[in-house]
Amino acid sequence: PTAAEQVSARIHVIPDFPEAGIQFQDLTPVFSDAAAFKVMCEALVAPFAGRFDILGGLEARGFIIAGGASILTGAGVLPVRKAGKLPRRVITETYELEYGVASLEVHEDELPAGSRVLVIDDVLATGGTAQAACRLIERAGWNVAGVAVTLELEGLGGREQLSDYEVFSLLRA
Ligand code: IMP
Repeated sequence: PTAAEQVSARIHVIPDFPEAGIQFQDLTPVFSDAAAFKVMCEALVAPFAGRFDILGGLEARGFIIAGGASILTGAGVLPVRKAGKLPRRVITETYELEYGVASLEVHEDELPAGSRVLVIDDVLATGGTAQAACRLIERAGWNVAGVAVTLELEGLGGREQLSDYEVFSLLRA
């Protein structure tokens, strides 16, 4: 099977989670299958080979994928965290959710200027989360190498919102 087939076979779709009408894409069975997890990590970084210095993992499932990809590529991990978790001086980017707002943060001095960050997450939906991460990276003086996600939910505007960046998705639904 291809990487996409191997990963796709392990994704569970949960109706009405966390609320009615949402079809939640659950990737935890990919993480628990070492072979599928490895091919997923390989597939997400392959299009960007030689064009990034560090993997920007988005809390929380992006941390897992970035960690796996780090061991495969030798690039480190930049944890892009939810507000209030990082102990040193941070840059904060606030973005709209369907109901309310959320914030992401990085340590302002975590990387050298000009570092090329590949943004990694499990699912791309409206693109608000990834867009906030890209803005943070640029405000910190680093460059966005691209955005790599396992699953892109089409029709929610994510790719359009990220039109300034190269976006790769292993799967689309
Ligand atoms: P966005 O900001 O609307 O693009 O939503 C993407 C963020 O929400 C990512 O961090 C995802 O992990 C999470 N997310 C949205 N929908 C799903 C889903 O169906 N399954 C798992 N995570 C999701």
